[in-house]
Amino acid sequence: MAVNCIFCKIVRGEIPSRKVYEDEELFAFHDIAPVAPVHFMLVPKQHLDSLAETDDSHAALLGRMLVLAPALAKQQGLHNGFRTVINTGSGGGQEVFHLHVHIIGGGRIPPMVRRD
Ligand code: AMP
Ligand code: ZN
Repeated sequence: MAVNCIFCKIVRGEIPSRKVYEDEELFAFHDIAPVAPVHFMLVPKQHLDSLAETDDSHAALLGRMLVLAPALAKQQGLHNGFRTVINTGSGGGQEVFHLHVHIIGGGRIPPMVRRD
Protein backbone atom coordinates (compact mmCIF):
# COMPACT_ATOMS: atom_id res chain seq x y z
CA MET A 1 0.00 0.00 0.00
CA ALA A 2 1.32 3.44 -0.92
CA VAL A 3 0.73 6.03 1.79
CA ASN A 4 -0.28 8.95 -0.41
CA CYS A 5 -1.95 7.12 -3.30
CA ILE A 6 -5.59 8.21 -3.68
CA PHE A 7 -6.77 4.76 -4.82
CA CYS A 8 -4.91 3.05 -1.93
CA LYS A 9 -6.77 5.46 0.36
CA ILE A 10 -10.07 4.48 -1.28
CA VAL A 11 -9.23 0.78 -0.85
CA ARG A 12 -8.42 1.41 2.84
CA GLY A 13 -11.67 3.37 3.29
CA GLU A 14 -9.81 6.59 4.16
CA ILE A 15 -11.46 8.39 1.23
CA PRO A 16 -15.14 7.66 0.59
CA SER A 17 -16.16 5.93 -2.62
CA ARG A 18 -19.27 4.35 -4.11
CA LYS A 19 -18.19 0.74 -3.89
CA VAL A 20 -19.17 -1.69 -6.65
CA TYR A 21 -17.26 -4.78 -5.53
CA GLU A 22 -14.63 -6.00 -3.07
CA ASP A 23 -12.77 -9.23 -2.42
CA GLU A 24 -9.41 -10.02 -0.84
CA GLU A 25 -7.45 -8.90 -3.92
CA LEU A 26 -9.66 -6.50 -5.87
CA PHE A 27 -11.79 -3.41 -5.32
CA ALA A 28 -14.19 -1.62 -7.68
CA PHE A 29 -15.83 1.80 -7.26
CA HIS A 30 -17.67 4.37 -9.36
CA ASP A 31 -15.62 7.07 -11.07
CA ILE A 32 -16.10 10.47 -9.45
CA ALA A 33 -16.34 12.13 -12.91
CA PRO A 34 -18.16 9.59 -15.09
CA VAL A 35 -17.90 9.90 -18.88
CA ALA A 36 -20.97 7.67 -19.42
CA PRO A 37 -24.05 6.62 -17.39
CA VAL A 38 -22.02 3.70 -15.99
CA HIS A 39 -18.33 4.31 -15.30
CA PHE A 40 -16.48 2.48 -12.61
CA MET A 41 -12.95 1.42 -11.89
CA LEU A 42 -11.55 -1.97 -11.00
CA VAL A 43 -8.25 -1.88 -9.10
CA PRO A 44 -5.97 -4.37 -7.39
CA LYS A 45 -5.71 -3.73 -3.64
CA GLN A 46 -1.97 -4.15 -4.05
CA HIS A 47 -0.41 -0.87 -5.15
CA LEU A 48 1.07 -1.05 -8.64
CA ASP A 49 1.83 2.24 -10.37
CA SER A 50 0.59 1.09 -13.76
CA LEU A 51 0.40 -1.80 -16.19
CA ALA A 52 4.01 -0.99 -17.06
CA GLU A 53 5.09 -2.17 -13.58
CA THR A 54 3.62 -5.64 -14.01
CA ASP A 55 5.47 -8.86 -14.84
CA ASP A 56 4.76 -12.59 -14.93
CA SER A 57 4.13 -12.62 -11.18
CA HIS A 58 1.03 -10.47 -11.80
CA ALA A 59 -0.45 -12.64 -14.55
CA ALA A 60 -3.05 -14.30 -12.30
CA LEU A 61 -4.10 -10.97 -10.77
CA LEU A 62 -4.49 -9.33 -14.18
CA GLY A 63 -6.40 -12.35 -15.43
CA ARG A 64 -8.80 -12.15 -12.48
CA MET A 65 -9.40 -8.47 -13.20
CA LEU A 66 -10.29 -9.12 -16.84
CA VAL A 67 -12.51 -12.09 -15.99
CA LEU A 68 -14.33 -10.09 -13.31
CA ALA A 69 -14.93 -7.07 -15.55
CA PRO A 70 -17.85 -8.51 -17.60
CA ALA A 71 -19.54 -9.91 -14.48
CA LEU A 72 -19.42 -6.51 -12.76
CA ALA A 73 -20.50 -4.76 -15.97
CA LYS A 74 -23.60 -7.00 -16.12
CA GLN A 75 -24.35 -6.34 -12.44
CA GLN A 76 -24.26 -2.63 -13.27
CA GLY A 77 -26.80 -3.16 -16.07
CA LEU A 78 -24.44 -3.21 -19.04
CA HIS A 79 -26.07 -6.10 -20.90
CA ASN A 80 -25.09 -4.94 -24.42
CA GLY A 81 -21.41 -4.55 -23.78
CA PHE A 82 -18.99 -2.06 -22.35
CA ARG A 83 -15.61 -0.47 -22.93
CA THR A 84 -12.53 -1.26 -20.87
CA VAL A 85 -9.71 1.29 -20.76
CA ILE A 86 -6.33 1.02 -19.08
CA ASN A 87 -4.33 4.23 -19.38
CA THR A 88 -0.65 3.56 -18.83
CA GLY A 89 1.89 6.23 -17.96
CA SER A 90 1.84 9.89 -18.87
CA GLY A 91 2.13 8.92 -22.53
CA GLY A 92 -1.11 6.94 -22.15
CA GLY A 93 -2.99 9.73 -20.39
CA GLN A 94 -2.83 8.11 -16.94
CA GLU A 95 -3.63 10.58 -14.14
CA VAL A 96 -3.86 8.37 -11.08
CA PHE A 97 -0.79 6.18 -10.73
CA HIS A 98 -2.44 3.12 -9.22
CA LEU A 99 -3.24 0.50 -11.86
CA HIS A 100 -6.93 0.60 -12.76
CA VAL A 101 -9.30 -0.65 -15.43
CA HIS A 102 -12.07 1.76 -16.42
CA ILE A 103 -15.35 0.00 -17.22
CA ILE A 104 -17.62 2.30 -19.17
CA GLY A 105 -21.01 1.96 -20.85
CA GLY A 106 -24.70 2.64 -20.89
CA GLY A 107 -24.64 5.54 -23.30
CA ARG A 108 -23.38 6.32 -26.74
CA ILE A 109 -19.81 5.07 -26.81
CA PRO A 110 -17.93 6.87 -29.58
CA PRO A 111 -15.18 5.18 -31.56
CA MET A 112 -11.90 5.09 -29.62
CA VAL A 113 -9.99 6.89 -32.32
CA ARG A 114 -11.58 9.54 -34.52
CA ARG A 115 -10.54 9.31 -38.14
CA ASP A 116 -11.48 12.49 -39.95
P1 AMP B 1 -6.74 7.80 -15.43
O1 AMP B 1 -6.75 9.05 -16.26
O2 AMP B 1 -6.88 6.54 -16.24
O3 AMP B 1 -5.60 7.77 -14.46
O4 AMP B 1 -8.09 7.84 -14.60
C1 AMP B 1 -8.21 8.34 -13.32
C2 AMP B 1 -9.68 8.38 -13.01
O5 AMP B 1 -9.82 8.47 -11.60
C3 AMP B 1 -10.43 9.56 -13.61
O6 AMP B 1 -11.47 9.07 -14.46
C4 AMP B 1 -10.99 10.29 -12.38
O7 AMP B 1 -12.28 10.81 -12.59
C5 AMP B 1 -11.00 9.18 -11.33
N1 AMP B 1 -10.91 9.63 -9.95
C6 AMP B 1 -10.03 10.51 -9.42
N2 AMP B 1 -10.25 10.67 -8.11
C7 AMP B 1 -11.29 9.87 -7.79
C8 AMP B 1 -12.00 9.57 -6.58
N3 AMP B 1 -11.69 10.15 -5.42
N4 AMP B 1 -13.03 8.70 -6.64
C9 AMP B 1 -13.37 8.11 -7.80
N5 AMP B 1 -12.73 8.33 -8.96
C10 AMP B 1 -11.72 9.19 -8.96
ZN1 ZN C 1 -2.17 2.89 -4.70
